[in-house]
Amino acid sequence: MNKNVSSKQSAVSGTAAATQPAGPASRSPLTAHAGGTGTDIFAAMETLGHEQVLLSHDPSCGYFGIIAIHDTTLGPALGGTRFWQYASTDEAITDALRLARGMTYKSAVAGINLGGGKSVIIGDNKRTDREVVFRAHGRFIETLGGRYITAEDIGTSPADMEYIKLETDHVAGLLGLSGDPSPVTGYGVYVGMKAAAKERWGSDSLAGKTVAVQGAGKVAYYLMQHLHADGARIIVTDLDAEKVRRAVQEFGARPVSPDVIYDQEADIFSPNALGATINDETLVRLKVQVIAGGANNQLAEDRHGDELEKRGILYAPDYVINGGGVINVYGELHRWPVERAKKKAGEIYETLLRIFEIARRERIPTYRAADRLAEQRIAAVGGLDRMWVGGRQGRLSG
Ligand code: NAD
Repeated sequence: MNKNVSSKQSAVSGTAAATQPAGPASRSPLTAHAGGTGTDIFAAMETLGHEQVLLSHDPSCGYFGIIAIHDTTLGPALGGTRFWQYASTDEAITDALRLARGMTYKSAVAGINLGGGKSVIIGDNKRTDREVVFRAHGRFIETLGGRYITAEDIGTSPADMEYIKLETDHVAGLLGLSGDPSPVTGYGVYVGMKAAAKERWGSDSLAGKTVAVQGAGKVAYYLMQHLHADGARIIVTDLDAEKVRRAVQEFGARPVSPDVIYDQEADIFSPNALGATINDETLVRLKVQVIAGGANNQLAEDRHGDELEKRGILYAPDYVINGGGVINVYGELHRWPVERAKKKAGEIYETLLRIFEIARRERIPTYRAADRLAEQRIAAVGGLDRMWVGGRQGRLSG
């Protein structure tokens, strides 16, 4: 546990420190919920392998923040800041723990020197007094001396990151630096889809393959650019008619309404919108042989990954195939030119082939094989610390 936090930031002990708000009641998101918490945080940390969880409250602006650091074997913990009106402290801590752990695995399989962390700010993410909230958050991050690096996430924007930057250097995704990660993410999804095609059909060519693309936003746009150039047939859907129209015009995509995307006769389903789209209701409708898309948390539950395996549908694990985003952030931290980030994202192809091979060899679903590969890399690199290398400050070089 970190001892360097100010008295307002309590490292969490057995149960959540009761964050009774001292600030203006109108800004206190937890007033109704701060009473008891049912989560045994140490038990959760022990089970999931977290290193550190911290809470911070700044009464001057009604800021309530949590930072969860899962594992820093590979490097400083990176993970975005989520700004959300959680129903309770428990829910916020649980989300931070879960998301931080996910980042450890994502960075590990991306082959970069970052650990996993996440932070959440509890409150109404439409608040307009953003400077004080994000500066408070930046000060909290600064107390960790670089053990945690933040970036954008749900409820936050690049402009919010600029406020954080006024208080700490440990923030990425700044305006004018690496910029929008979507081109790199879209490219990673494309090469990942090729790897899945190679595994399923023996050739990584996507020419003539039909891809049902759910969501035609930023990631999907770059993905479709590559698919179109390769001669794939695209079926597209989005809630936003303008984005669909653009895909039809630029890539000759065939539009369908959002509710029927799961029923399409296609080779590949590519989720690029929401999470949890592979669930009890949709799974039975899919007619595809491959699932490969950029969305986070595609499986509603792990058992849906098992079910895909049983049905012979090859699933490219989400956090592996969409790793271009975190690679882009890593590139920003190390001032990589975008071409270098793109080249690194190209390695997703080989990584997925390795994961498919582990899954075959060990007779486990691909999502479990991905976890195994991540854990192997963390254990292997962690073992290097046995040998003292003199004045070097750790493995933070790019
Ligand atoms: P985006 O907001 O640009 O695109 C998402 C699109 O999905 C929007 O156009 C939205 O209208 C559409 N959509 C929402 N609900 C839908 C539904 N029910 N049916 C059809 N379309 C729907 O976001 P993005 O940056 O392209 O990210 C897409 C996904 O990829 C998200 O899950 C995101 O977390 C994940 N991701 C993105 C990046 C990145 O670099 N942008 C990196 C890693 C993961």
